[in-house]
Amino acid sequence: MLFDISKADIEEIHDDLFSEKQVGVSVLRLDKIHPLVSGNKIFKLHYFLEEARGSTHKTILSFGGAYSNHLAATAYACKASGLSSIGIVRGEAPTRLSPTLQQCVEDGMLLQFVSRTEYDVKETIEFNNKLKTQFGEFMLVPEGGFHPLGAKGAALIYHLIPGKKYSHIALATGTATTLAGMLRAADADQQVISIPVLKGITDNKERIKQLNGVDAEYKNLEILSDYHFGGYAKKTTFLTDFMNLCHQRYRLQLDFVYTAKMFFAITDRIKNDGFKKGSQILCLHTGGLQGNKSLPLNTLLF
Ligand SMILES: *Cc1c(COP(=O)(O)O)cnc(C)c1O
Repeated sequence: MLFDISKADIEEIHDDLFSEKQVGVSVLRLDKIHPLVSGNKIFKLHYFLEEARGSTHKTILSFGGAYSNHLAATAYACKASGLSSIGIVRGEAPTRLSPTLQQCVEDGMLLQFVSRTEYDVKETIEFNNKLKTQFGEFMLVPEGGFHPLGAKGAALIYHLIPGKKYSHIALATGTATTLAGMLRAADADQQVISIPVLKGITDNKERIKQLNGVDAEYKNLEILSDYHFGGYAKKTTFLTDFMNLCHQRYRLQLDFVYTAKMFFAITDRIKNDGFKKGSQILCLHTGGLQGNKSLPLNTLLF
């Protein structure tokens, strides 16, 4: 592993509500591994980096938007692995780069902006050939690491979780790659709870099959689809108030795109008696805190 993953400890969160309902809530702090690189992204990239290091081109190309945690992680991880990186960014080049993209450039990533129409066809062979003509050979990492290799890497997160201790593992879901990894690794009697952060996502089970094989059916998967707060990167004052409360009460910093929605979903389920007494719930803090920089000043009190 490229990073010191031993920094990712597990913290128990104490609250009268949790004691009253007789459930345990803990957080696996993947966010502690690196201040800028989202915890789960490092794992999803692991096998891609390994393969690219063994190649002759030693270059990784990937995709993302202007605030993409995935691009930021790719740039940093490539730099740390002695690889070149190319980022294909959705949308016209802005006059001022977002903080995320500035960080990518600092980490040596070559950025190319493409129109949204072109971005939509980024998976096609034609577009791929165009990129090969322009940049030469590279290893392509799909957006968000959505690929069986990404899921295999995400499964490594499970090594940080002590054996049979937890009855539930909860995580925020974007591309479902981390989810597929957890499902690969978790015990069949451990409930894996996915909280999609995009609105109207109905294809997670299909995605899991694409990542883990056509026969991948998981009885221990539960999807809570009502906690997206309006959609990807959408937020309400209610959500940011909840984030401030979590910091004030538990000293727990969450990000508004992923982990705050996940953690709210879990506390809400606890409140509504959604967990049996004695449940031990482990929430994955997948990182993403750098994204909070895009919030208006004074929204967050941390
Ligand atoms: C990317 C990301 C996720 C989502 O991971 P997927 O594997 O795409 O589902 C969750 N949390 C954070 C902080 C992320 O940056």
